[in-house]
Amino acid sequence: MKLVYSDDYDLNLGNHVFPSNKYRLIKEKILRDGVARLEDFFEALAVPERDVALVHDREYIRKLQADKLSMTEILRLEVPYSPELVRAVWLSVGGSILAGTFALEDGVAVNVGGGFHHAFPDHGEGFCVLNDVAIAIRRLQKAKVIERAMTVDCDVHQGNGTASIFAGDKTVYTLSIHQAHNYPYPKPPSSLDVNLPDGTEDAEYLAALTQALDHALAEFQPDLILYVAGADPYHDDQLGGLKLTLEGLGRRDRAVFEKARAKNIPVAVTLGGGYARRLEDTILIHTNTVRVAKEFAR
Ligand SMILES: [Zn+2]
Repeated sequence: MKLVYSDDYDLNLGNHVFPSNKYRLIKEKILRDGVARLEDFFEALAVPERDVALVHDREYIRKLQADKLSMTEILRLEVPYSPELVRAVWLSVGGSILAGTFALEDGVAVNVGGGFHHAFPDHGEGFCVLNDVAIAIRRLQKAKVIERAMTVDCDVHQGNGTASIFAGDKTVYTLSIHQAHNYPYPKPPSSLDVNLPDGTEDAEYLAALTQALDHALAEFQPDLILYVAGADPYHDDQLGGLKLTLEGLGRRDRAVFEKARAKNIPVAVTLGGGYARRLEDTILIHTNTVRVAKEFAR
């Protein structure tokens, strides 16, 4: 299975609740545990501005590139602005496009990054600067390698940016399963939102997820699924209020890949959030997702 990565995915956040060094740590663990070999990793490349502009407003792109965001806009991002941040998110976009391309060839591929689902066309928020998932869909549609895509967003936070970008678009189905009483407020409607109560545990989560996937895939037949495999539904997450165990998160991943496989739909994975009290738990959850993904690659 092909994995996409860059050493420059690090968002350069320093001491922040978002562990922006997680990408490197995940790659190291993948190699150390023998989940993949070095030659399975492909370098993410920054994309041209015209690709970013398939989703984002030119004015917002210009402000990002020229360090012209207002203080309000930076506060809304909730991460400090830096040239490294901009480079990292540009690379993450390239990574998600490449993972999508690989997934179409191999059934499954992973961007060891991305999943920045809170970014809107004209602004970023909630640690998300550019919506790599939305750009990847638009880019692959433009290249005519897909017509229809589905996002399966299992981050604990609703995928508000993605939902908003594809609102009214009959070619993209957005599914988000998340904690109801958590950021973002408001939650622009996805094609299908599963709002879970605080403290939802493995069994209820998995029942709700499989039901949602069955419903979505009966209603809509995508050429590609973009899976946002957030690590933050974990019970010991600092920004999440669900109670999934490590095992439950693994079963969640498996459920997504199994439902996709049953309909012969390729899956491209992005990581999304993860704020476990112990960083090693976040790293383990993401690495486990890669482990499960690999079982489903051709
Ligand atoms: Zn999240």
